[in-house]
Amino acid sequence: MGTSLGFGGTAVNADNIKVCARCGLRYDWRKSASSTLKMTYCGSLCEKADLGFTIDALIHVERGERPIVKLPEADDDQKEPVAPVV
Ligand SMILES: [Zn+2]
Repeated sequence: MGTSLGFGGTAVNADNIKVCARCGLRYDWRKSASSTLKMTYCGSLCEKADLGFTIDALIHVERGERPIVKLPEADDDQKEPVAPVV
């Protein structure tokens, strides 16, 4: 409390102003389009440009959405016969 300027409640609270780690833009982190690094980057574009990916994308992968890269699996039809355990 105490940083509000004037009336109307529209004053920008300096506590919420961050400087983008990539482009240097001053922004209100609460309005950042970056979903997980709101306080570091002004938006997902800077986040992605700086990291090469977005944390959000990683989270989606970890949630179970398959990554684009498909790991090669063993060829089922070329399995060597397994000797039965006696
Ligand atoms: Zn930026």
